[in-house]
Amino acid sequence: LAVAMGCSATKQNNVAVKSTQLPLDRKVDSVLALMTLEEKVGQMNQYNGFWEVTGPVPKEGAAALKYEHLKKGWVGSMLNVKGVKDVKALQKIAVEETRLGIPVIFGFDVIHGFKTISPIPLAEAASWDLEAIERSAQIAAAEAAASGLNWTFSPMVDVSRDARWGRVMEGAGEDTYLNSRIAEARVKGFQGNLGEFSVAACVKHFAGYSFAEAGKDYNTVEVSNNTLHNIILPPFKAASDAGALTFMNSFNELEGIPATGNAFLQRQLLKGEWGFKGFVVSDWGSMGEMIPHGYAKDMKEAAMYAANAGSDMDMESYGYVEHLAALVREGKVSQDKVDDAVRRILRVKFMLGLFDDPYKYCNEAREKQTIGKKEFHDGVLDVAKKSIVLLKNEKNLLPLKKTGQKIAVIGALADDKTSPLGSWRIAADDGTAVTVLEGLKKYPGNAITYSKGADVALGKVVFGSETKINMTDKSGFSEAVNAAKSADVVIMVLGEHGLQTGEGRSRSDLNLPGVQQELLETVYKANPNIVLVLNNGRPLTIPWAAQNIPAIVEAWQLGTQSGNAIAQVLYGDYNPSGKLPMSFPRNVGQEPLYYNHKSTGRPGNGQPTESVFWSHYIDVQDGALYPFGYGLSYSKFEYSNLKVSSNSFGKGGKVSVSVDVTNSSKVDGKEVVQLYLRDLIGSVTRPVRELKDFELTEIKAGQTKTITFAINEKTIEFYTANNKWEAEPGDFKVYVGGNSSATLEASFGYTN
Ligand code: BGC
Repeated sequence: LAVAMGCSATKQNNVAVKSTQLPLDRKVDSVLALMTLEEKVGQMNQYNGFWEVTGPVPKEGAAALKYEHLKKGWVGSMLNVKGVKDVKALQKIAVEETRLGIPVIFGFDVIHGFKTISPIPLAEAASWDLEAIERSAQIAAAEAAASGLNWTFSPMVDVSRDARWGRVMEGAGEDTYLNSRIAEARVKGFQGNLGEFSVAACVKHFAGYSFAEAGKDYNTVEVSNNTLHNIILPPFKAASDAGALTFMNSFNELEGIPATGNAFLQRQLLKGEWGFKGFVVSDWGSMGEMIPHGYAKDMKEAAMYAANAGSDMDMESYGYVEHLAALVREGKVSQDKVDDAVRRILRVKFMLGLFDDPYKYCNEAREKQTIGKKEFHDGVLDVAKKSIVLLKNEKNLLPLKKTGQKIAVIGALADDKTSPLGSWRIAADDGTAVTVLEGLKKYPGNAITYSKGADVALGKVVFGSETKINMTDKSGFSEAVNAAKSADVVIMVLGEHGLQTGEGRSRSDLNLPGVQQELLETVYKANPNIVLVLNNGRPLTIPWAAQNIPAIVEAWQLGTQSGNAIAQVLYGDYNPSGKLPMSFPRNVGQEPLYYNHKSTGRPGNGQPTESVFWSHYIDVQDGALYPFGYGLSYSKFEYSNLKVSSNSFGKGGKVSVSVDVTNSSKVDGKEVVQLYLRDLIGSVTRPVRELKDFELTEIKAGQTKTITFAINEKTIEFYTANNKWEAEPGDFKVYVGGNSSATLEASFGYTN
């Protein structure tokens, strides 16, 4: 060791470690060997930011305690500190004032951009464009890294089937396959080459969090083993295989055991079977939450469960820093387990280059040059356009004519510079988004009027504090109606405020909040030529609009460049190609509604004439209003000639599926060609169909393209009754098309 480190345990050790050419694990061990038990526990402790260097050194309360702990080397990580100045000042204490000088790793929720904000992750998922998504993560990483940060708590890869859950905006929607591919893209984008513009990714929330009953955040989770393995876990596995450096566990329980204390998830599966070498951070205070869950009697017991279960770092519970050393001395947590956790944390710090240069991320000149770069704005604009989904386009309303039109723009969201930034963009300043109104005004050929009509009712949005907005105020209706009357086209921007989704923002209704639905219907009576632009962070129930409004554009919360992206799509300078990553229900009572459900013994055929005894509701038409994978374009795509290369394949073999896609319109466009399979009979029941592959492809006007997919054992394998992933012999149906209701069908068998 002395040779490895080159000197005794002093702050010069960093320098010594840097200068050695040892393999990573030896470097890690050489540091570990120098550490006292308290210093090891310190590495497993993460604190929320507590000191802005512009203010005085904290003298009392929690901040003073944290400050003392930092100086002792008892803080391995901090979150919510940003900006080179602050990060550097805190890092300096860790590196220069502690006995061993081990650098701190600085984490932050960089969920969809740092200062330059990308569309919310659910919106980006609607692009099905893995390159654009990776680029967006890269931009976020570059700005965050320039601001001194080393680690983002992203991506969230929770498969989200219930639109009531407020956090659906943070993920990639309801499908396991799409979530998996996007998880990989985001991990790659954030981590890149682990250079000075990269941050470590953190895959969350491990696991089952999105299955909160009734979509109510933090609620109890009840999922079968089958759903856990086949639906929930694959995106986590994909992200781990893609090299994600860290994972975050979650608030919920699984099989009655809180995820933070869940050894099956963290030790057996993640670190065991999957071979994950990074570390697991708890979710905020989730260690302490094991007490109200009724699982641990006090914080000491919670710390014991968490450490034994493989939760490596404690985010803000104070559980480890206060109790873990004692637990080790009492023999309740083994020294080996602590060593394993610390090794994992040190390993990530080495991989990020923090031992080589703890100030690697602390370059003020780079910070100034990087944040808000023009190319970043171009990048987020690009992905914003790609995230827009055209839901309906009748009466030739879209694209808009560029000249000679009188356009009435209506809706509070059309003129809101903050809402488009969405939830979880804590580093970005309010008021920095381009509004729809501003975007539209860049096309000077038309005359625009604006009226608010009504506020977007916020309700109880910010963790219990009521906002002052009047939810029933209709005083703006008459101005909106008058504007509509004299317009050729009315653009109504309605939906949810950006802070109406996100953590703790579950809804029991999925309607247009407040009096917006009434506003829509009132304006419609004055002028039915309405383009409805939706801004929202989750699927909404819009059956009336779907029936009556001629054009509907799903524009989510698109980030900094929102208004430009929307205007370019409305004017046809960008031909929309987005596809829904979540089903839109007809009413909230259908939730959770997802396309890849199982068949019941009473499947019915969806027709109203069916016997009353098939599985259905008596008061709503079956199925989604707009299904998963759905989205239109200004082009028109037709599918034909679906072929399977052979009617069966055996062990080690494959079949190819090909389809012709014709752009029968006069406009070049892009289409997401989707491949779904149904496994007819399984050792456990199988979904009615599952997305297995897709290709986003450009097809010129009048052109026909043949798209080919390969299907092999990997494609058809699932977690079977044998409790393992395997391909079962049997018959399969293939569906290919532009959404999950695709009707073009073929079949093949697998024999082994
Ligand atoms: C959320 C996490 C987040 C963490 C840190 C928690 O409340 O569940 O997703 O990363 O806070 O801000």
